[in-house]
Formats: sequence, structure tokens, C-alpha cells
Amino acid sequence: MKTFYDFGLENRVVRAITELGFEEPTPIQEKTIPIALEARDLIGQAQTGTGKTAAFSIPLINRIATSEQKIVGLILTPTRELAIQVSEEIAKLSRYKGVRSLPIYGGQDIQRQIRLLRNKPHIIIGTPGRLLDHINRKTIKLEDVNTVVLDEADEMLDMGFMEDIQSILSLVPEERHTMLFSATMPSNIQKLAQQFLRNPEHVSVIPKQISAPLIQQNYVEVHEKQKFDALTRLLDMESPDLAIIFGRTKRRVDELAEALQKCGYAADGLHGDLSQHQRDTVMRKFRDNSIEVLVATDVAARGLDVSGVSHVINFDLPQDPESYVHRIGRTGRAGREGTAWSFVTPREIDHLYFIEKITRHKLTRKPLPSVAEALEGKQKITAEKLLSIVDSKEYGEYKALAIQLLEQYDSVQLLAASLKLLTGEKNDMSIELTPEEPVRVKKRFNDGRQGGHRRTSGGPGNHSSHVNRGQRRDRDRDRDRGRDGNRDRSRDGGRDYGSRKPQGDTAGKRERTYSRKD
Ligand code: ADP
Ligand code: MG
Repeated sequence: MKTFYDFGLENRVVRAITELGFEEPTPIQEKTIPIALEARDLIGQAQTGTGKTAAFSIPLINRIATSEQKIVGLILTPTRELAIQVSEEIAKLSRYKGVRSLPIYGGQDIQRQIRLLRNKPHIIIGTPGRLLDHINRKTIKLEDVNTVVLDEADEMLDMGFMEDIQSILSLVPEERHTMLFSATMPSNIQKLAQQFLRNPEHVSVIPKQISAPLIQQNYVEVHEKQKFDALTRLLDMESPDLAIIFGRTKRRVDELAEALQKCGYAADGLHGDLSQHQRDTVMRKFRDNSIEVLVATDVAARGLDVSGVSHVINFDLPQDPESYVHRIGRTGRAGREGTAWSFVTPREIDHLYFIEKITRHKLTRKPLPSVAEALEGKQKITAEKLLSIVDSKEYGEYKALAIQLLEQYDSVQLLAASLKLLTGEKNDMSIELTPEEPVRVKKRFNDGRQGGHRRTSGGPGNHSSHVNRGQRRDRDRDRDRGRDGNRDRSRDGGRDYGSRKPQGDTAGKRERTYSRKD
């Protein structure tokens, strides 16, 4: 068995790794770290949850001379959440070495970032738009950067960052070490790699089985108008530890989160329109379980690694099979079991077949949970809560009253009434959500074995890149104001997002995920 000691890393780095609870390198780490330590360029392909962050961070941290007072490492990520997540992992991995790192992303006060930059970070983890902003203001200089990482490169290109990445990379000295990570390898990634990497080594860990065996995947056929009822019944029946519910647009997320709160669920929404502070607050509450139901858009939840998510519910079916795979991959992490439910409207059944075909996994059809099943689920939870109070013996001040009541009433009657009270049967809230259009199968999809141009609806070549350039600017501006542009995407039929060409074996799920032993 290979251990982290075998790579010849500095002791203080190995110590930090061990303290994180990483016992052995994951397959992508085992393959990547030796190449990266020799500063050879590489392209790493592996599904989410396989430990890519540490795969590039460990060699990067190991290599940095902390006496330096300049930016030597640059990591590009598609979203601010990922920038923060990567920067947190780097902080933990470098705690004994004292490497300084700083996340830079749109939506946070730029003056604050400029102040923090005065601490002379060694590593910048940034989203392309905001990074360019700093470069233009000359508050970030890339002339000393010797290592560049493109994390989730496919996602960055999907978000229209190609030109920004090209501008940024052309400012980094050519004499450098470049690593590109991506879950998929469509042709535009290969093009980017050809342009900016030198003789890259290809490292891939492609799972043999496409869909994660630990995730039970179900679907329910429902009409758009029944969805909310279906959702609350499902939540009651399944009583998830933590659930992520995906909605197609930001409006949808807002409406859903609010409706769930009204019905008494500990729910909140996450999407790009929230301020950075609001998003951080939501994520913190979700991580410490004071929110049990997180409603999110794809972009907002992409790559998020929260342990203990027992359920993923696709309130709206995603346009793109890969989004489906990414979404359901938020559960079943770290070898735990998870359940994914998808709501499919009658007009979306074809689209479901399309997703099944690409992910090579048939979903199990389930009936809409009945009111009785939902109630049963809720009652079970109430009974569990009740028994846990019995176990804790923290009911002393109620005892006298209990004895008094029992003298007059039957114990079954009393207990049943208490259970009813505690369960809080839902009075009809009459929730109205703004309906969403159904998703449809992309016309130009064909078998999909070859790579190729993924922006099918824009047409190949110049025309499409021209169109996308215009859109990119809009989205970019949005992003810096803190939007994720999800709505636009659904409105134009997912022009630059939904038509990703599947890549045969790669369009799938990891076999196994890794996480800290906790
Ligand atoms: P990816 O970027 O490939 O989606 P992450 O880097 O986010 O995956 O890692 C997923 C989880 O696995 C994180 O919680 C991370 O801390 C954990 N992890 C990474 N490497 C290891 C390891 N060698 N052993 C155990 N857990 C690990
Ligand atoms: Mg990652």
C-alpha cells in the first residue's frame, strides 16, 4: 500500500495530511503527486469526490519556499464556493508550513481583497472574472507565478470563461508548471490544454461502473403543479438527515425555500443572487445542521462537499445528464449510502430516458408518496424524538402534570394526543409556485461516443463562439454582481450548458469517494 510518506514530502506537510485523517492517497493522488512533484505538466481526469484538491495542493504546498514574499501559485476555479473550499483545504494542508493563501472571487468587497493581498500570499485561488479585475487594477501581478492549476476546467469553459482563462494564462511566465483538472475531456478542454500545457502527462481515473452503486436513484412522475405536494410528502416520508433540493432557476430556489419554511421545514436557499455573506451563512448553517434542507441551483451547489447529505431531490430535472450526475453525487459521499429522487413531468419522460442512456443507469420508478405514508414518516420521527427525551430523562418538571392527567385519562389517549400535537399535521398552506418549462431532449444529440463540439444548439465553429462571447460578457457581469446566470441558461434552452456531448465512459460517476475519516 502506498502511503503519503512514500512521496518524499516534507515532514510538516505529511503531518498536516495525517491530521486531516487522510490515511492513504486516493488513486488520482497516487498518480498525480509524483508527476507534480517533478513539475511536469499534467491533465488529471477524475470524477468529483476523488480528492483532486489535495492531489494538486499537496505538491504545490510542498514546493513553495515560504521565505518568498510573492505570488508563486495560481489556482483558477469556476465558482466562489469552490475557491473558498479549495482555499480552506490548502490552509489545513499547509498549517505547519505557513504557506499563505488567499481566495479571490466576485461578490466580495474588492477593497477588502486588496488589503488582504498586502499580506503577500503565496497562493491565489480565484475565479477568472474577479482575478482579471485585480490584474487590470495591478493589485495582482502574475510575473512570479511558477505553478498554475485549472480546477474543474470543463465547468469553467461551460460558464464561458475561455477567453478570461486565455488572458490570464498569457500573463503567467511561460516557464511554469501547469496542471489541468476536469471531470470530462471535451474538445475545448483539449484545445485549452494544447495551447497552455507542455507535453502534459494524462492521468485519469475513470470508474468502470458509471453510476455510483451507493446511491439509490428513484424517480416519480408528477405534474408540475403537484411537485410541491410531492416534495413535502417525500420529505416527511423519508425524513432525510440532510437534503439538497435542486431547482432550475434562482426564482425557483427562492420560492421553494420560502414555501418550505412556511410549512415548517428547516430550509434555506443557495444561489448566485445572494450576497457572499448570505451564502456563507447558509452554507455554515447547512454544515452545522441548523438547516436540514438546502435548496440550490446547479451552479451554486457544484462541487460542494458536505458530509452527511442523505438525500438529493431533483425538484426540476436538469437539462444535462452530467449535471444529473454531479447533483446526485452530493449524496453517497465517503462510502455512505444516499438516495436521489427526481421529479419528472409527463413531458419530460423522454428526457429522463436520455439521462438514463448517458449515465447508463435506469432509475427506479416510484409512486407518489401518499398522505398516509408521509404522515407515517412524520410520526416515526416524532416517536424517535419522544424516546430520545425519555432516554435523556430531561422531563422532570412535566412529571407531576403527567401523573395528574393519567389519573383522569387513559394513557393511550394521552400519548396519542401528545404525538398528534408534536407531529404537527400540516394544515393546507396552498403554496403556489411559478411553473417552469419542461426540459427537452437536445435535437442534435447522437450516440455521443466521439468528443466534439458541445455547443450544439449554437452550431459549430465561429458562429457559436461569437454568440457565446456576447453571452459570456453578460454572465460575467452578472457573476461579479454575484449572480450565477442560471436563469439565463434555462431561458435560452441551455445554449451553452445543456448540450454537452457525453464522453462515453467518462460521462459517469466515480466508483468510490473519499473523505476524512470522521
Ligand atoms: P474532487 O475535487 O475530486 O471533487 P475533493 O478534493 O473535494 O474531490 O475531495 C473530496 C473529499 O475527500 C474531501 O472531503 C477531501 O477532504 C477528502 N479526501 C481527499 N483526499 C483524501 C484521502 N487521501 N483520504 C481521505 N479523504 C480524502
Ligand atoms: Mg474539486
